[in-house]
Amino acid sequence: MMGVFHDVETYGHEQISFFHDKESGLKAIIGVHSTVLGPALGGCRMWKYTDEQAALRDVLRLSRGMTYKAAVAGLNLGGGKAVVMADARTEKTPEMLKAFGRAVEAMGGRYITAEDVGMSVSDIDTIRGCTKHAVGGSNEGGSGDPSVMTAFGVFQGMKAALKTSALGESLEGARVAIQGVGNVGYHLASYLSAAGAKLVVADIYPNQLEKVVQEFGAEVVAPDQIYSVDCDIFAPCALGAILNARTIPQLKCKIVAGSANNQLETEADGFDLFSRGIVYAPDYAINSGGLINVAAELEGYNYERVLAKVSKVYDTIESILERSKVENMPPHKAADAVAELRLAQAKKSMVEPAFAV
Ligand code: NAD
Repeated sequence: MMGVFHDVETYGHEQISFFHDKESGLKAIIGVHSTVLGPALGGCRMWKYTDEQAALRDVLRLSRGMTYKAAVAGLNLGGGKAVVMADARTEKTPEMLKAFGRAVEAMGGRYITAEDVGMSVSDIDTIRGCTKHAVGGSNEGGSGDPSVMTAFGVFQGMKAALKTSALGESLEGARVAIQGVGNVGYHLASYLSAAGAKLVVADIYPNQLEKVVQEFGAEVVAPDQIYSVDCDIFAPCALGAILNARTIPQLKCKIVAGSANNQLETEADGFDLFSRGIVYAPDYAINSGGLINVAAELEGYNYERVLAKVSKVYDTIESILERSKVENMPPHKAADAVAELRLAQAKKSMVEPAFAV
């Protein structure tokens, strides 16, 4: 493919591997951004991309994000991600999943897969039939759906953001606007409601909304109204790139803290939030609960240990926001600095590969 090395150089990847299986129709790309801290762990996304370039761009962007997420979470893991070019609703077959499992196995442990958009816990179980390098399944010590831990981490990060914004740590009476009440958004709504927060929600699926209205008494607004809700915290839990030149001027919140990956459309949007005095809890730092949850399988899953580790998202967000204040830099830059320092230190002390192949 033309231009692969140009893209790889731009993002700094170690390896991009293309896999094809004629019988099942599998077309997959596995991106290993970094193995400096350990084997590259990251989910597999199944998506009907418009073209190969779009799939490549996505795997490059997502795998690099995983390097930073693991580094900031203090995990001894690198960053990787896989994309399968197929429609998860109409084209996914057990044969395709098994072919993907064989592809992961062929990576020899440099890449460990998990679920992402278009993949389920039971798909991981199928994949695990063909590779030992898959986490997040339900069988053989699998940790299952990571979204509860992701939500718990976001909840902790919100409390830290409230504290550093001098609003007080308590969520009692705080008004939180949640964009997307799917897996993570629903569990987040549950934690917030139990803590006494008032919820305003938007989703494009009425079924999702009904549940949070009935269970937590949430107020519903139309999807395009969620940005302008007068609230303490705006929690993006649906799509990426939703903090941009069109949405930021609408925001009436004091804090942005949610689970969605890649929330900033561009770097400039992070600077814009900062100059407007809106505190942004960097996405990959606040949404690491799911990664911590699946990574725990590698050393034998223990719920209490995972809960304790995910609680530390509070400290991570607190220290990033403190640094942002002290050094007068936007929080997303402060988070990048934490990750890059850890990577640079690990690289310096590297005398041999961080894991045995
Ligand atoms: P999900 O698909 O279960 O939920 C997303 C919800 O957003 C759905 O209910 C969908 O209808 C809704 N939505 C889509 N477009 C919308 C729009 N324009 N306006 C309002 N709502 C909209 O996904 P999830 O697992 O809950 O993940 C949510 C986000 O968090 C994603 O960006 C994901 O990448 C990220 N994330 C998830 C995890 C995890 O553990 N699941 C971990 C880290 C990051």
